[in-house]
Amino acid sequence: MSPVHYQDLDHGITVIDAEIQRPGLAACYLIREGDRAAFVEAGTAHSVPGLLQVLEEKGIGRDQVDYVIPTHVHLDHAGGVGVLMEQLPQARLVIHPRGARHMIDPSKLRAGAAAVYGEEAMDRMFGPLLPVPEERVIQAGDGDSIQLNGRTLAFLDTPGHAKHHFSIVDEKGRGIFSGDTFGLSYREFDTERGAFAFPTTTPVQFDPEALHASVDRLVDRGLDFMYLTHYGRVGDLERLRREQHEMIDAFVALAREHANDGETRHGALVEGMMALLMERLQAHGCTLPEARVRELVGMDVELNVQGLEFWLDHAG
Ligand SMILES: [Zn+2]
Repeated sequence: MSPVHYQDLDHGITVIDAEIQRPGLAACYLIREGDRAAFVEAGTAHSVPGLLQVLEEKGIGRDQVDYVIPTHVHLDHAGGVGVLMEQLPQARLVIHPRGARHMIDPSKLRAGAAAVYGEEAMDRMFGPLLPVPEERVIQAGDGDSIQLNGRTLAFLDTPGHAKHHFSIVDEKGRGIFSGDTFGLSYREFDTERGAFAFPTTTPVQFDPEALHASVDRLVDRGLDFMYLTHYGRVGDLERLRREQHEMIDAFVALAREHANDGETRHGALVEGMMALLMERLQAHGCTLPEARVRELVGMDVELNVQGLEFWLDHAG
């Protein structure tokens, strides 16, 4: 097995590469509090050996993990839950109430992903989706909290990217595990100005008003960091908040502009979003060649556009 890439941050938090598609695309987090631990996000079934390896390297027994906490049930966050839970005998799954049934019976989730990615790619990308026994599942609604060995982890309902999305407030870690609600921020785009982040509008529950409100809710907690799934810890939250709002509005304006383009709509939206990101990246001081930027964000732009089109056709 290839070595797992991870980095210890402070406050007992470790960011672990879930090894989805490329290094630095998707993260899971390990939170350690004394002799107990929790995972935030599970990646896919293919991520699980790496997660277990990190436990082993840190001398944390599999029976010392109390919780597995995916921020929402999209498969790059929760696809590996069933396989991971099988290896962690004491762990309970903590999940948004709207996501719980999909973890107990993943068949609809599987069908949904197969419709987006195709049957064959779906198996290759995500591996098996195993069900989690209902008695191991905790549903966490807005305002609920759990204790990890005395460390409070509190839940905020944060729809906008997905209705089954919560974020996890960790005062001790001075931040919030924000899943996909605070956007995507690849470290390749870091400049002297700091992190660059852009919203994710993937199908099928993008809701711009809800996303605006959730972004504000996250930053209004007044903590120092967001721990993003894609990818890593970011600070400078007031600037990023402003930029999230601007880009959500820009994506929506782009979608509306091309709403009635017919069969050329998809291509126009992809190129429009790419142009918008290139322009903003340049303003951010990013000097990567356009071809490299396309490599890094191509899949996200495609999914974002699919999400905007679904929104246009159903709600916009
Ligand atoms: Zn997602």
